[in-house]
Amino acid sequence: MIRATLIALSHNRAAKRFVLSNRLARRMARRFVAGEELDDALAAARASNEAGMKASLDFLGENVATREDAQRARDMYLGIFDRIGRDRLDANVSLKLTQLGLDFGAEFCLEQMLPIVKHAESLGNFVRIDMEGSAYTERTIEIARSLRGQSAAVGTVIQAYLRRSEQDVRSLVAAGCRIRLCKGAYLEPPEIAFAEKREVDANFVRLMEILLPSGVYHGIATHDPRMIAATKEFAEKQSIGKDKFEFQMLYGIRPDLQRQLIREGYRMRVYIPYGLDWFPYFMRRLAERPANLIFILRNLFR
Ligand SMILES: Cc1cc2nc3c(=O)[nH]c(=O)nc-3n(C[C@H](O)[C@H](O)[C@H](O)COP(=O)(O)OP(=O)(O)OC[C@H]3O[C@@H](n4cnc5c(N)ncnc54)[C@H](O)[C@@H]3O)c2cc1C
Repeated sequence: MIRATLIALSHNRAAKRFVLSNRLARRMARRFVAGEELDDALAAARASNEAGMKASLDFLGENVATREDAQRARDMYLGIFDRIGRDRLDANVSLKLTQLGLDFGAEFCLEQMLPIVKHAESLGNFVRIDMEGSAYTERTIEIARSLRGQSAAVGTVIQAYLRRSEQDVRSLVAAGCRIRLCKGAYLEPPEIAFAEKREVDANFVRLMEILLPSGVYHGIATHDPRMIAATKEFAEKQSIGKDKFEFQMLYGIRPDLQRQLIREGYRMRVYIPYGLDWFPYFMRRLAERPANLIFILRNLFR
């Protein structure tokens, strides 16, 4: 119930105004967002690298209002790859297709994406296409597949809560596409998504067991110790080396677990969002853990 409300509010303008004007919420958002400027994200990526972790930079933004906004986002991503290269960081980029104009048509979005992927490829880098709500799943997979046909420097994300995901995993892996496996952060109806945590977790493990032996380098993105333990155990049983996949976690969440995995010799990538458009991202993070919201409310009423 709380989760559904928070995710629904992530698109609400009044809620956005309220949260943006609230000092405590802004301070709390800083736990999940590296800062407003690219330099903030680069500094966070450098700190992650120094701790033995890789990074993925996300210039926050989704569902842009105009084509010009999408073109500006494209230019921003081209520049981010240049800075990553110049600063010699071990970092790639994560982005959302609705930030690159998917709402203006798949063709327009592909026109923005192709130069980004080609630029990443020319620098030996990589673009991860985040997965958004189910209204975009099919188009996101099609665009990822089309880009993957033109470059190996692109991959996408599969959400374990969607019933369709096993089929998508099998077809994307057959196309050699690198996948980040996560549970899924949006609000989806039971006809298309597993509603129970138990079912989502079981599907996560099922998909992980398809991904790991596929010979393609994938990311296992979770903070759930049970999913992490299942992944380690399966990899060990199948003699899949620790360098054949990576764990991924979000900036500011379970840094202790991030460090522990590094100490154990696993690869870890931290997803580092930055920018001014942090409201929907922040609301999804609150929805994942109601304790975060209770903390804010308790302080508001104090
Ligand atoms: C690198 C990365 C990229 C992602 N990309 C996408 C994407 O493209 N599309 C998409 O739909 N989703 C994405 N997600 C979000 C994902 O789908 C889940 O919503 C999120 O990771 C929470 O699920 P969990 O696997 O951590 O397990 P959960 O069962 O939700 O959480 C397990 C434990 O992790 C900790 N935890 C989890 N979330 C939080 C939080 N917000 N604050 C504090 N503690 C927390 C808690 O200790 C919790 O008990 C991504 C997640 C990661 C790590």
